[in-house]
Amino acid sequence: MPRTALFPGSFDPFTNGHLDIVQRGLALFDHVIIAIGTNSSKQRYLPVEQMQGLIAGLFEDEPRVSVQTFKGLTAEFAREKGAGFLLRGLRNSPDFEYEKPIAYGNQHINTGLETVFLLTSPTLGAISSTIIRDIHRFGGNVDAFLPYALPPLAQ
Ligand code: ADP
Repeated sequence: MPRTALFPGSFDPFTNGHLDIVQRGLALFDHVIIAIGTNSSKQRYLPVEQMQGLIAGLFEDEPRVSVQTFKGLTAEFAREKGAGFLLRGLRNSPDFEYEKPIAYGNQHINTGLETVFLLTSPTLGAISSTIIRDIHRFGGNVDAFLPYALPPLAQ
């Protein structure tokens, strides 16, 4: 049975930290599905279709990675996709405290679904989508944090 991991997140935007988790996940799993959640009530900074396209471009030569969007429960989407694992990154202890109840909840919904946490690589731990949005929103250059070029905001 191929091992498939779902890497769920907002990816608003997808960063070098996220890329690192996917690349390291490929050493553990046969397939990694990057799953952009769209059910959040909060407004996105970048349209989901744009983000999906930018991420897909990074992996056009890697057939073991796909990029999909989903609504609703992550654990149900994992079941639908035949993914037995959720992949998540941990930067610090607040990330861990945040992730713990979510992992328990997901396992409750989808028994046997294992969440696998990878510690962020030492140089990437300070990268956060929130900070990148804040810099970009005010016209700052965010190239150092992203594996693709993000066009300036249309005014
Ligand atoms: P969510 O809104 O679900 O937290 P994010 O897009 O912010 O989604 O993050 C998706 C996953 O990537 C989470 O597990 C998060 O902890 C992890 N992550 C975010 N930034 C980094 C980073 N710099 N290094 C490693 N993992 C990260």
